[in-house]
Amino acid sequence: MRKKIVAGNWKMNLDYNEGLALFSEIINMVNDEITGTQQAVICSPFIHIHSLVQLAKGYHKVAVGAQNAHQAESGAYTGEISAKMIKSTGAAYVILGHSERRQYFGETNALLAQKTDTVLKHDLTPIFCIGETLQEREAETHFDVIKTQLVEGIFHLSAEDFGKLVIAYEPVWAIGTGVTATSAQAQEIHDFIRKEIAAKYNQAVADATTILYGGSCNPKNAAELFAQADIDGGLIGGASLKSRDFLDIVKTFN
Ligand code: PEP
Repeated sequence: MRKKIVAGNWKMNLDYNEGLALFSEIINMVNDEITGTQQAVICSPFIHIHSLVQLAKGYHKVAVGAQNAHQAESGAYTGEISAKMIKSTGAAYVILGHSERRQYFGETNALLAQKTDTVLKHDLTPIFCIGETLQEREAETHFDVIKTQLVEGIFHLSAEDFGKLVIAYEPVWAIGTGVTATSAQAQEIHDFIRKEIAAKYNQAVADATTILYGGSCNPKNAAELFAQADIDGGLIGGASLKSRDFLDIVKTFN
């Protein structure tokens, strides 16, 4: 049985006190309302992480993650945060390759392959994001784009290491736009990703890989998306900034 995960990506939102207040609401609601085995994750800005981990102690259904990590172990990289530092806070997850990192910070598949290695080395779980732009979908190159992101970003991993990561399929045209992929469009790509994993590794590895959908997921569309055979949860941006909306998405798996 694959792990079901609903991960919130707060992006660059919420000051320190706002973040702690929202997270406190979320852990209380998870404690009261979640009856299944799903995992809720909040990927906050770096400034919140250590405090959120402290608040989450004893709440096993909630984990904390970062939104990025540097590829190097340490060194003269002013303003950057290493995987080792993230691990030392008690965080468990790191989003890698979000389309905003690819678009605004020039992150390439080759760089993301290095980041993945470093994050795994520090025993953190990468949530590795892939997805096509609108232009790529309209040009019908979306399958090629996704395959290249897989091959260049994570298919260098051993089967053992591959088994430690989570993939998030996030069509760029659906992120923050209010335009969600239909459940059929999302399932088609998730099925494709799983088949590519089976071809590269084997069926057991493919069957065990958690693949999240992200892109304008909300309490109204989550149930239909998460009911698809190859969708194992979601990466949630905007709706993770409202405790009620986020919880209603997490509760889809109750
Ligand atoms: C995201 O940024 O990963 C995301 C899915 O955002 P939104 O839910 O706001 O589209």
